[in-house]
Amino acid sequence: MDKYEKVFELAKRRGFLWNSFELYGGSRGFYDYGPLGSTLKRRIEQIWREFYVIQEGHMEIECPTIGIEDVFVASGHVGGFSDPLCECKKCGEAFRADHLVENVMNAAGTLSAEQLTQVIKEKGITCPECGGEFNDAYEFNLMFKTTIGPGTGRQGYLRPETAQGMFVDFQRLSRFYRDKLPFGAVQIGKSYRNEIAPRQGVIRLREFTQAECEIFVDPRNKKHPNFERFADRELSLYSQEAQQKGEPFRITVREAVEKGIIAHEVLGYNIALTNEFLTKVGIDPARLRFRQHLKDEMAHYAIDCWDAEIETERFGWVEIVGIADRTDYDLKAHAKVSKTELYVYVEYEEPKMVTRFVVKPNMGKLGPLFKGKAKAVADALKQLSEAELSLSKDQIKVTVDGEELTVSSDVVDFAEETVKVSGENVIPHVIEPSYGIDRIFYGVMEHAFDEENVAQKAAESGLKGAGEAEETENEPEAAKGEGEGEEEARLVMHFSSAVAPVQVAVLPLLTRKELADPAKEIIAKLREKSLLVNYDDSGTIGRRYRRNDEIGTPYSVTVDYDTLEDGTVTIRDRDAMRQVRAPIDGIENVLYELIYRGRDFESAGKPFNF
Ligand code: AMP
Repeated sequence: MDKYEKVFELAKRRGFLWNSFELYGGSRGFYDYGPLGSTLKRRIEQIWREFYVIQEGHMEIECPTIGIEDVFVASGHVGGFSDPLCECKKCGEAFRADHLVENVMNAAGTLSAEQLTQVIKEKGITCPECGGEFNDAYEFNLMFKTTIGPGTGRQGYLRPETAQGMFVDFQRLSRFYRDKLPFGAVQIGKSYRNEIAPRQGVIRLREFTQAECEIFVDPRNKKHPNFERFADRELSLYSQEAQQKGEPFRITVREAVEKGIIAHEVLGYNIALTNEFLTKVGIDPARLRFRQHLKDEMAHYAIDCWDAEIETERFGWVEIVGIADRTDYDLKAHAKVSKTELYVYVEYEEPKMVTRFVVKPNMGKLGPLFKGKAKAVADALKQLSEAELSLSKDQIKVTVDGEELTVSSDVVDFAEETVKVSGENVIPHVIEPSYGIDRIFYGVMEHAFDEENVAQKAAESGLKGAGEAEETENEPEAAKGEGEGEEEARLVMHFSSAVAPVQVAVLPLLTRKELADPAKEIIAKLREKSLLVNYDDSGTIGRRYRRNDEIGTPYSVTVDYDTLEDGTVTIRDRDAMRQVRAPIDGIENVLYELIYRGRDFESAGKPFNF
């Protein structure tokens, strides 16, 4: 079993991830999050909200997951959101054509369907399932279609990303933020992509959770007001240049921006923020890097784009977050299709005197020509920019009530005038950090996963090893726990307390009432502190420690017969398997501090080695 299989085996067995529709044989690309998986996922999302909504002030909105066609025509998804598909002539199995070609050449992702077909033929690539030949590759649109309303209804799509909601609501958002740039908004929710061949667990799903943030900035000022916060933070960057050498390098955010490796401060700040978030939820910094999109993979409108990638054992480096400067592309695209101007009026610090070329309509001539519409035509002429006028000196075109009218230049006078201007209309640029929560979830699981040799671990920690935990009169019973089951490897999830789905396990040594009652009282106290607690009274104490190690419970509290005599319990720390004895009185504060305040474990009670 490789690590992926081990993580999935544990995830299924312990209620993190289950195949959806298992009862009916399952369906590729869908997973259920079980009780512990849902909790872990929600906790990751909640930390994301703390970062983006609370700290950054980008408010959360919630838009429908079904979108009308216009939205996705404007966004380009109807026209071009596709992957090249190849089907086996013999068994009918579908594959991503670029993935088939990846093994024989680099940059397969940049080839067209025709080019991929040619390579598949030339290299004699056959079906990995049955060895059959392939049909020609073609572009397959990844959006799920649906019908809105009864009958033939209206064409709709399940959204392939959450971002479009923020663009469509741009005017409302701008007003909400009193038209002051920069501002941002986020959404966390489901997105849907009819992936061709999802074979990689929660890394490639047909329904997945995105957390996306759209930050609208003034294109003339991409400095970040809070840049210093992360300026000296070192990141592992895999820039375009570094990719040619095959060597990522470490550099501070400040230096990367100063040297022009990262395009500007806002992008640099957001890459560093992503680094901060990912390490906080438990991605191993040594297996995290930021890879810049190569010129031919970057969207034509983007200024710069970086993917946060994590190293996984089976799939190599996997993209989990994309951070891009998308310029004004999205707002312009929606302005065009919706026929609504999308901009923010930005006031200058000081009004400027501007000399400009203006049109003075001659009402004496316009009146007879355009009758009732003459005033509207005159107003429309005054609105024209210098560029629009110089394009059409003789025949000026204006639009009045949706109708395009042609005005001959001899019915207008042109003049230059100097006016005081206090601001201008600006189409903001969009900086977009786009997170895939399911991929982060998997990364957190794989990076937290460990198989330890218990005897070795016990020796290293100065604990008694296998079979050495002899019972003595004075020794609290709970101490014997680590001596059991140590022939097996210890499976342990090193989740941080910030995301662990269970933070404290409370374990009465025996199911007897005299031990169960104080255990339940401890649970009530911990729950009052909003700690996530698990009560477990079945099996030997050693088995229960192992069960909690597997689900990543950072602390266990064991109630034994000494508890009844001296009012103390054993607190066990998952990672080092150390134990201390601490009074029940105030135990909830001690655990809260261990979990949220970084309190040193040794200070939690009397050291206790058995
Ligand atoms: P994209 O819009 O393709 O850049 O996707 C943004 C993020 O969503 C990626 O960085 C992934 O983490 C995640 N993502 C994209 N497609 C999938 C998928 N099929 N399954 C799970 N996560 C995905």
